[in-house]
Amino acid sequence: MTTSTLLTGKTALVTGASRGIGRCIALCLAKQGAEVIVNYSTSKEKAEQVVAEIASNGGTSYSLKADVSNEAEVEELVKTILSKSNRIDILVNNAGITRDGLLMRMKTEDWQAVINLNLTGVFLCTRAVSRTMLKQKSGRIINVTSVVGIMGNAGQANYAAAKAGVLGITKSTAKEFASRGITVNAVAPGFITTDMTKDLNAESILSLIPLGSFGTPEQVAGAVRFLATDPAAAYITGQVLQVDGGMVMN
Ligand code: NAP
Repeated sequence: MTTSTLLTGKTALVTGASRGIGRCIALCLAKQGAEVIVNYSTSKEKAEQVVAEIASNGGTSYSLKADVSNEAEVEELVKTILSKSNRIDILVNNAGITRDGLLMRMKTEDWQAVINLNLTGVFLCTRAVSRTMLKQKSGRIINVTSVVGIMGNAGQANYAAAKAGVLGITKSTAKEFASRGITVNAVAPGFITTDMTKDLNAESILSLIPLGSFGTPEQVAGAVRFLATDPAAAYITGQVLQVDGGMVMN
């Protein structure tokens, strides 16, 4: 058994947990004792591998398929979790995609797809779990945004707009839910080594990062774990924790 008990008795939904950062967040929360729901949209096998890895570490987990940009699928996802686990204590809105291109040539469908998942998906999942968390009078919502939502990035107007929107929904819901014991915070990664960044030209980016390297999914997961934990993060809400090697200093 390699799990700790910091999150024992808590149920956590991690969206987009089949790969990359979401996978590490799922493994990390499970190691703290949380039961973790591994959401995915297409990578069933990879999601099952995450569930198996959690079980081999002594943790509890199951996977559920849902496109979190689809309202009906999100409602069904949360309904299924409540029928199986009876509660949701932690929501990590992690699922995200990029469809990069200069604005002048950006197709409307690429704009819309990124907004639909990266921003509307956060709204749909937050609304769907909020009913339960409000009743429970407790909850932790952690939104994975990006430093690009703070600083902008040529070729990513759709992604930057969505991630900036996530900052807005984070702060607004933090204010709406605070009186009911629910905190809402965001983690803003810089450049992290995952499938999403595998085709980037690392050479041209490294000079922008004071700590001199891309980050790892484990480093982002550590920030999420902190924000999910009581009592360490219980008095923190509406904040944005950057995990970016010092790239953007406010
Ligand atoms: P990734 O490796 O490409 O993984 C994306 C995850 O999202 C996968 O598990 C994927 O599942 C899931 N997903 C995609 N479409 C979905 C949908 N419609 N419904 C549910 N899940 C869906 O990406 P990543 O780098 O780990 O990024 C994770 C988050 O961190 C994203 O929000 C991203 O914007 C943010 N971020 C990443 C970086 C970075 O440098 N990597 C930097 C800043 C922020 P399937 O395989 O099943 O589709």
